[in-house]
Amino acid sequence: MNSTPSLWQQELNQAFTGSTELLNYLKLSPDLSVTEAENSFSLRVPLAYAKNMEKANRYDPLLLQVLPIADELNSPKNYLDDPVGDLPALKNGCLIHKYHDRVLFITTGGCAINCRFCFRRNFSYSDAQLTSKNEIRALQYLRNNPSINEVIFSGGDPLLLSDQRIEHLIQELAKISHIKRLRFHTRLPIVLPSRMTEALIDLFQNAPLPIIIVTHCNHANELSEQVKQACLRLKQTNITLLNQTVLLKNINDHPVALKELSEQLFACGILPYYLHILDKAKGTAHFDITEAKAIQLHQSLQKQLSGYLVPKLVKEEAGKANKTLITY
Ligand SMILES: *Cc1c(COP(=O)(O)O)cnc(C)c1O
Ligand code: SF4
Repeated sequence: MNSTPSLWQQELNQAFTGSTELLNYLKLSPDLSVTEAENSFSLRVPLAYAKNMEKANRYDPLLLQVLPIADELNSPKNYLDDPVGDLPALKNGCLIHKYHDRVLFITTGGCAINCRFCFRRNFSYSDAQLTSKNEIRALQYLRNNPSINEVIFSGGDPLLLSDQRIEHLIQELAKISHIKRLRFHTRLPIVLPSRMTEALIDLFQNAPLPIIIVTHCNHANELSEQVKQACLRLKQTNITLLNQTVLLKNINDHPVALKELSEQLFACGILPYYLHILDKAKGTAHFDITEAKAIQLHQSLQKQLSGYLVPKLVKEEAGKANKTLITY
């Protein structure tokens, strides 16, 4: 690439990559972070996200999502490297075909932010890079499987790809007649809203297939004015905007926090889609809440909100062809 990096690429390059830096910025003691945890999964936080944290608050719900702490090092045995069974379903390097009529397309291993609770924090992406050889094999697999009607770009974060790569993939997939929809699962509109450039918006606007974007937002404080403007702009293009939230202890496991999140998502043009029980990844147990507690929280949302603002309570079980709806 020879062009000067665009603003979002600069912001990505300038993200906090060390806890000392971030804690300084927040006027907190560097001792709050644990080096051994940080060494096993590095810290990464764009400034646009850190700006939404409250200074000098060590319990800030956004800080708790990114700060490496000692709890990560004492992982119970039932918290696994690949809790959702991605590896056995990996086909042709970058496709995960575990759901019935749709595939996950792993386009990049990178993320703009490193979330401590991530279910892929231990997943090796080295084999899942979208090399041109992998791309050819992936497209071939999709052509040969007429039961697949939706491609879900996943990662990593698929919106970290360049506009050219995204456009190329959309055009190639649109040539396969049984593919009806394209979906992006991304945290970028939330953590790096400058990525929602007019060029990207144009690209989506002119896409030959319907586009669905599922954002990953866990707390209303993540929805700054800049995020709101970026999402509302996306919405104008007729994209379907949905959100998935992970239930996280001491971060959003409270009826008030979840109600506020649903309301603020709607104000950003996004409908709540999934409220997800944590995937039991190694190093994430301290974020987990019981299913009984999750049900209580969901019941309280059901009581307080219009039906369309109540996300579905789900969990992912390895080997199953769809998420499990938690009913009560
Ligand atoms: C659940 C999930 C999907 C698939 O979602 P459905 O809406 O059930 O098809 C894709 N990507 C991620 C990251 C998920 O958690
Ligand atoms: S895949 Fe999603 S949850 Fe995991 S680190 Fe990236 S943005 Fe965070």
